[in-house]
Amino acid sequence: MLRRRLARLAVTAVLALAAAPLAAALPAAASAPHLAATTVTYDAGQAPELADHITEAVQIWNDSVSNVRLVPGSPADVTISEGHGGGSYTIPDGLGAGEIYLDLDQAAQYNPTRIAAHEIGHIYGLPDNYDGDCSILMSGHSAGYDCQTTHPSADEAAQVDANFAGGATEVRPAAYAGCFSTGRR
Ligand SMILES: [Zn+2]
Repeated sequence: MLRRRLARLAVTAVLALAAAPLAAALPAAASAPHLAATTVTYDAGQAPELADHITEAVQIWNDSVSNVRLVPGSPADVTISEGHGGGSYTIPDGLGAGEIYLDLDQAAQYNPTRIAAHEIGHIYGLPDNYDGDCSILMSGHSAGYDCQTTHPSADEAAQVDANFAGGATEVRPAAYAGCFSTGRR
């Protein structure tokens, strides 16, 4: 009995010792975050094939706006999954949270980083722009297969910064489906 209790004490001590280097090993909170920025965590574990494109899209957004930034984390505000068919979509759960689904079949037709960045745009409160040309990130419908624009326009970035100017307080319950399906609205 006593030996077991001692063993437990030993385990506790080891855990306490391990905690310090563990904390130090956690990724630094990225480079120089904006002081007022809202941090949105995401989990792209269910989108392994598009992982590199998602990482690129996240970096693009983090480089383009000041008031919100995406970091991998748990619990995740945003979950990103992938699959075949159905069209890419986003179901926001308020501003800066929700579910993103990336259609691998669409990712074979359109620039996959553009699709990921577009869906993140919905998480940040941007609606679809059905008439926009290729200079617009949110113009999935109208810009065509060839469009390689992966960055938000200056106006789109400014809108996101405005959306998050007071923190993630606005609720935008709309869902966005068929983002890259031409002819559907
Ligand atoms: Zn869309």
